Amino acid sequence: MFPERLARGYRNFIGSRFASERARYQELAGLGQKPSIMVMGCVDSRVSPEVIFDAAPGEILVARNVANLVPRYEPGGGQHGASAALEFAVRALKVAHIVVLGHAFCGGIKAFVRDDAPLTESDFIGKWMSQIAPAAQAIGPQGDEGEESYLRKLEFASVELSLRNLMTFPFVKSAVEKGELALHGAYFGVASGRLLVRNEKTGAFEPVGD
Ligand SMILES: [Zn+2]
Repeated sequence: MFPERLARGYRNFIGSRFASERARYQELAGLGQKPSIMVMGCVDSRVSPEVIFDAAPGEILVARNVANLVPRYEPGGGQHGASAALEFAVRALKVAHIVVLGHAFCGGIKAFVRDDAPLTESDFIGKWMSQIAPAAQAIGPQGDEGEESYLRKLEFASVELSLRNLMTFPFVKSAVEKGELALHGAYFGVASGRLLVRNEKTGAFEPVGD
């Protein structure tokens, strides 16, 4: 049976939000979507970019995967969902911004740090998360800071790594160099609701201005 929670939510949506934004939906249907911002987010149910950024339909293109990772450019072989979304956003939609949105208490990052036993024989999560090894290397081994603090550090470092990986895509690099595309890092504190944005010059994550 289709979940009642979703049926109820849909009825609310069609009666309120869709009703008030009907013209916008119709316009988007006719003209097609033209979002200028792409967000690479985590699948985590607490970190929905449309909710956090209060987005209207058509405003942001969202791609989500475990731990909001952008893989390195790897043409040939494999089924590259994240890379396909990126290609679509940059080449077809010509977005002006890509935001890699990290977050606190990320289960994917934790699984990597704890080297969790695979959930299935195929171990999709383990293979997927192994790509943040360079981020872990960059911050060094866990010291006296305790696991929680180390996890936070690695969450930020993996956003940095994804920003670097973005530049391995020739079409991203060329759009950035032409000044047509800007890359941003951000981080959502799930418990506090605080959004930190990466300062391009210093690399520090700072609270977003009022
Ligand atoms: Zn996550």
